[in-house]
Amino acid sequence: MISSERRTMSMKKILAVHSAPRPHWVGNGFPVRSLFNYMQHGALVTPFLLLDYAGPARFEPSASERRGVGSHPHRGFETVTIVYEGEVSHRDSTGAGGTIGPGDVQWMTAAAGLVHEEFHSPAFTQQGGVLEMVQLWVNLPARDKMNAPGYQGIVDASIPRIALPGGGGTLRVIAGRFDGQQGPARTHTPIDVWDLRLEAGARVSLPLVPGHTGVLVVLSGTVQLGGHTAVHDAQWAQLAREGDALQIETEHGAKLLFLGGEPIQEPIAGHGPFVMNTRAEIVQAFQDFEAGRFGQMAA
Ligand code: MN
Repeated sequence: MISSERRTMSMKKILAVHSAPRPHWVGNGFPVRSLFNYMQHGALVTPFLLLDYAGPARFEPSASERRGVGSHPHRGFETVTIVYEGEVSHRDSTGAGGTIGPGDVQWMTAAAGLVHEEFHSPAFTQQGGVLEMVQLWVNLPARDKMNAPGYQGIVDASIPRIALPGGGGTLRVIAGRFDGQQGPARTHTPIDVWDLRLEAGARVSLPLVPGHTGVLVVLSGTVQLGGHTAVHDAQWAQLAREGDALQIETEHGAKLLFLGGEPIQEPIAGHGPFVMNTRAEIVQAFQDFEAGRFGQMAA
């Protein structure tokens, strides 16, 4: 970082560092730690709602088992699945779906509602191996909650990979912008989702958007933020909205996920797989699901 830039930057403060709760199983395929969720962290993480970190966990080969979670609905938000190891197959009631592997991302917009299933791919189940993935729930603004559902399958090769200065590592722009490069994900509000791999001894300064929510998730390794706050694997740091930069150092290297976004300043009412703005809309979601208005999986 050259000195003229340094003078004009103001570092984002670290407001809190949160540790992962105990893991729980989602279906029989995803041993997850819910690092944050809107019921606990509410407006602090908007526009993000929830982050489940699955694995890393080793699965033995199986010839016949289906590992994952069967047909279930969503309404009012998006689910973003980022695979680090293993392979996951999705299918939904609009006919969309696909299998994603390491480096790939599925950005599914549930919006007005769909039914989907999420399983390990048959090939991965038969071979066995390590599964590591993140599922992030991204809120939709009220104006977009009842849009038609959408699906973006984003392959690794379409995600810009940027070398960080000084040999610090790499940053993949899944959504938003970094260093003039635009990520492939189409979003409903301004969002940055960056996959960072830092080398041992890295010291980098990330330019961030003032006024936006900032969450830095450490998936593996340990980092020092702002020169003083240690964050370890499966912890996340909540950044102040004020400020426009974050300094990250690591002694031994780290794998990080940065989430930034413009806060959605609207009430949140949620229950299970539905996240809306009012309690009446949640009741309506249950009624619509019971009445079969979310569609059905093809046989
Ligand atoms: Mn789901």
